[in-house]
Amino acid sequence: MTTRVAVFGAGGRMGSTVCRAVAAEPGLELVAAIDPHHAGLDLRQVAGVEGSGLQVLRDPAGIGSVEPDVAVDFTRIDAARENLQWCATSGVHAVVGTTGFSDDDLERLRATFTSSNCFIAPNFAVGAVLMMRFAELAAPYFETAEIIELHHDKKVDAPSGTAMLTAERMARASGDWGKDPTEQEVLPGARGGAGPADIRIHSVRLRGLVAHQEVLLGTTGQSLSIRHDSYERTSFMPGVMLAVKAVADRPGVTVGLDTLLGI
Ligand code: NAP
Repeated sequence: MTTRVAVFGAGGRMGSTVCRAVAAEPGLELVAAIDPHHAGLDLRQVAGVEGSGLQVLRDPAGIGSVEPDVAVDFTRIDAARENLQWCATSGVHAVVGTTGFSDDDLERLRATFTSSNCFIAPNFAVGAVLMMRFAELAAPYFETAEIIELHHDKKVDAPSGTAMLTAERMARASGDWGKDPTEQEVLPGARGGAGPADIRIHSVRLRGLVAHQEVLLGTTGQSLSIRHDSYERTSFMPGVMLAVKAVADRPGVTVGLDTLLGI
């Protein structure tokens, strides 16, 4: 059976990569592409997808009778909230990579997704999922930890969803963290943002980067560095394809690719 897929944010860096991946994936059919700022353009121009014959739609109202089974969203948090509302009321499963959802957002989504399912992952790269798991395993053996996340210079939210989730998981894995020794922050922000359990998160934005993160853990006389690098947006696609194929069997709202990988 073919799964019919719509893509929100089809003109974006991630959305256009998702369009190409869906078009090339056996068992999936790209049936709609939505992006208000590229509306009316041929998907070939916008995302380099050959032969689909699709025009980019302004909003999901234009989907009409196409009836996707799954919609993928890589947009911005405010747009994603609206798109997900449409998915829930239309009975379309959602796969979401957009970052910036709060706990309140997740609560609302749990109440909203009753007739279709929603799968959210702040990071669809398998290596990043392993990095978070390794950081969580290491946490109880170290008293100090800092997270440095590094992204391209167009990323609009900080810190990244991956950095926040990593800190949350490390904070849950250990309650024994040293106090920040800083008495005077000469330059405000020099010690980064205080995440869960006061784990400091530092956000670097640099032209040329894609998505990278280093977790540093220290204890007496030794440190451990766990680093993951996504050099290309294609690194996220196997995870996105896995979620698109799995979401129909995951009732309600599921968060994190680890739930599909069993790690
Ligand atoms: P981007 O290039 O800015 O793409 C976002 C696209 O969504 C833009 O084309 C934007 O149009 C469009 N858009 C805005 N409002 C929309 C709406 N209501 N409906 C449909 N499309 C809309 O950003 P990106 O680098 O692709 O990243 C997108 C999101 O994915 C970010 O939240 C990022 O953090 C996240 N991300 C997640 C992962 C993961 O593995 N989970 C990996 C990478 C990135 P305009 O630019 O014209 O506004």
